[in-house]
Amino acid sequence: MTRVKRVYTFGNKEAEGNEKMKDLLGGKGANLAEMNLIGIPVPPGFTITTEVCTEYNKFGKDKVVELIKDDVEAAIKKVESIIGSKFGDKENPLLVSVRSGARVSMPGMMDTVLNLGLNDDVVQGIAKKTGNERFAWDSYRRFIQMFGDVVLGLKPESKEDHDPFEEVMDEIKHKKGVQNDTDLDVNDLKQIVTKYKEVVKRKTGKDFPTDPWDQLWAAIMAVFDSWQNPRAKYYRALNQIPEEWGTAVTVQSMVFGNMGNNSATGVAFTRDASTGEKIFNGEYLVNAQGEDVVAGIRTPQQITLEGSKRWAALANISEDERKTKYPSLEEVMPDAYAELFSIQQKLENHYRDMQDIEFTIQEGKLWLLQTRNGKRTGAAMVKIGMDMLREGMIDEKTLLLRLEANKLDELLHPVFDSDSVKTAKVMAKGLPASPGAATGQIVFFADEAKKYPKSILVRVETSPEDLEGINVAQGILTARGGMTSHAAVVARGMGKCCVSGAGSIKIDYKTRTLGMSGKVYKEGDWISLNGSTGEVYDGSIKTITPKLSGDFAEIMKISDKYTRMYVRTNADTPHDAKLARDFGAKGIGLCRTEHMFFDGERIKAMREMILATTEEGRRKALDKLLPYQRSDFEGIFEAMHDLPVTVRLLDPPLHEFVPHEDENQREMAQEMGISAEEVKRIVDSLHEINPMLGHRGCRLGNTYPEITEMQARAIIEAAVNLKKRGINAKPEIMVPLTGTVQEMEMQKKIVKDAAEKVFAETGERVDYLIGTMIEVPRAALVADKIAEHAEFFSFGTNDLTQMTFGYSRDDAGKFLPIYLKKGLLKNDPFQILDQEGVGQLVKMGTERGRQTCPKLKVGICGEHGGEPSSIEFCNSVGMDYVSCSPFRVPIARLAAAQANLKQSK
Ligand code: PEP
Ligand code: MG
Repeated sequence: MTRVKRVYTFGNKEAEGNEKMKDLLGGKGANLAEMNLIGIPVPPGFTITTEVCTEYNKFGKDKVVELIKDDVEAAIKKVESIIGSKFGDKENPLLVSVRSGARVSMPGMMDTVLNLGLNDDVVQGIAKKTGNERFAWDSYRRFIQMFGDVVLGLKPESKEDHDPFEEVMDEIKHKKGVQNDTDLDVNDLKQIVTKYKEVVKRKTGKDFPTDPWDQLWAAIMAVFDSWQNPRAKYYRALNQIPEEWGTAVTVQSMVFGNMGNNSATGVAFTRDASTGEKIFNGEYLVNAQGEDVVAGIRTPQQITLEGSKRWAALANISEDERKTKYPSLEEVMPDAYAELFSIQQKLENHYRDMQDIEFTIQEGKLWLLQTRNGKRTGAAMVKIGMDMLREGMIDEKTLLLRLEANKLDELLHPVFDSDSVKTAKVMAKGLPASPGAATGQIVFFADEAKKYPKSILVRVETSPEDLEGINVAQGILTARGGMTSHAAVVARGMGKCCVSGAGSIKIDYKTRTLGMSGKVYKEGDWISLNGSTGEVYDGSIKTITPKLSGDFAEIMKISDKYTRMYVRTNADTPHDAKLARDFGAKGIGLCRTEHMFFDGERIKAMREMILATTEEGRRKALDKLLPYQRSDFEGIFEAMHDLPVTVRLLDPPLHEFVPHEDENQREMAQEMGISAEEVKRIVDSLHEINPMLGHRGCRLGNTYPEITEMQARAIIEAAVNLKKRGINAKPEIMVPLTGTVQEMEMQKKIVKDAAEKVFAETGERVDYLIGTMIEVPRAALVADKIAEHAEFFSFGTNDLTQMTFGYSRDDAGKFLPIYLKKGLLKNDPFQILDQEGVGQLVKMGTERGRQTCPKLKVGICGEHGGEPSSIEFCNSVGMDYVSCSPFRVPIARLAAAQANLKQSK
């Protein structure tokens, strides 16, 4: 039996691992190995694999120590021989760092211990060996604090609690009357060490561990434990990183940036992570260790002279002050800088991607501690990708596969100015329902949204009646509703910022107040929403409108070269249709006709239709609606000329079109010329216990065929009218919520008869298709039969998810967050298609449909049609297209290309 290798060493330009081994060694471990292989100076060390973390979670500490003890001891020996010092030795001691590293970088989420191996004897040895007593004691106090925080669990429990170590440090600085750590002398540091040890004894009841080997094992286990800390868990949930991956642990010889004024430590990026510009940049501190740069205790300085000058200009600092107080590394240590500059170029060329690197300069000698592909904004992602393509560093396929489709979103919506948002106060959190940034004055009623030039519509939940208000407002905040709630769907469609389901907010329509985090807001007060994170802020925050760059358009063009599926849009207005077309939509995949019934006079006719008790009465009202519908369709078909437009027949339950509040019912009664009681009676009669499973979809069109007839007539007449004007409309009529083949047959007959009548009346013919949504599980099961009567299928995965899980789309917000938190579900299935369950129905529906009708056109128009992992699934089942809201069209175009590239690999 071959022995499982659990420990991989690196050092002296040799390594047992390499960059391809990220799954096993974590990103950090793999890249440290690789840097050795390409001749970059890296302190020697070894990496314990992610598999050991899994073993640790399963079997616990003792078993794991037994499994890796020999290997770890041998690896330490190897490091000792490279460095020429000995772990725990009093004369010539080796100190190490113990660092975490998952397969994908999770910056700052897990723990690290530096300067490990120190005790009261070793500190003397370090002092003697380096001739730098101050440095030795500075390292020792840092070690006790870090070990105390990470391994002994002495971190403050909440933000309000004080860090016991910081308290000691502050007290001593205060006594001495100094501000900076660097102003403390050896005696101060010795005093701090004594006090730190007292803190440990007081808090844990035990002495600080003095045996370096005990320290090492405890630190390794603590880093494994940090995989499970709340921060890391949250980050994993956000980024869909599987729980079972685990973290690797890298133990590495320390190099010291705090050895005096010829030592330093810093972080650098090979290109600008915010704008993507090809400018080497970063920050550093003289006489410091890594955590000082990020902790914000001292103001970090810029690495390059150019960056330093830019920084000073922004911070309003004179050139004289900059030069003396905040000089660049380029000025302070020109040799180390020159080497760093050439190494960063080498690293970027090697990895062919923007690198985020950590380095330390110990007494003038440069060491690299880490390199990884740098996190970046959407704008930087696009620019860096295209620049690298043009520079010949990557090819088109690499470019596409490397891009994060969802990040393109940032290029399409207004965003907060990053400096302003830093100082803003978060008051509540909801679902990031529709991305973007919005700042405005609070209104509580849709029809009052125009009251202020910039308003935020705050509602318990929204209904289709609020559409106009949603359109006018800068953003929408709701207390209830999930990602497919009405507010969310509509807002996404409009590219409007929306935070939905913010359960902690208190809305009182009567007093027109909104309560958040203990503060009461009145109508007209300013708040801000971040639809990309779900955060609700106090007051107004400056927003900026991002510009679409030429690079972005170029990426879309390249995507289309490699895609198999094409992208349509969900749009119900000529404006949205045009917008989506500009974003590259190849047609409309879902035009929801119900939204057309709300404007002005239409709603009156609609209500008249609903109130009618006879077919004749309904027909009279429908005759009034016909011209509105026809002209709406003409507008949309014209905007989408030459491209297909899928128009869905009326879908929602009729009660959504009638008012439920007394005042509005009275208004309606007056309009209709009937009594308020009569209106109330009818509204009550439309009440359903489960409206989403009730009288809706094709059930409406089959019980009241005249509705379908009117809609089919409006569609065909619109197409005929356009044809007369030389405009080519390509209507596709879609039946919603089909569950049985008979339902489909009946709807098809009604549509066909209506179309033939129009052709006979006008003497013109137009081509059109009749198809159906597959959104009831039964329809997927009998798809072979339904396909006999349908020319296309479009999967309505919102309803299909609702009915497959049995989770109400409107009520799931109550329990889904808890399910996600408890790990009962990995993702919200209304956002990310549940491939395991709902996906089976989609696959089966597609296959069975095509058994009957091999050329059947198949697409998706549920919200999942704009979500990259769901798009990949759609590609794998052989769909022809995906359809999504206009602002997601570019994302879907890229995701479709990526799916095809991955699947044809
Ligand atoms: C669906 O159910 O997936 C769908 C697109 O229809 P709606 O969201 O309008 O119910
Ligand atoms: Mg539906």
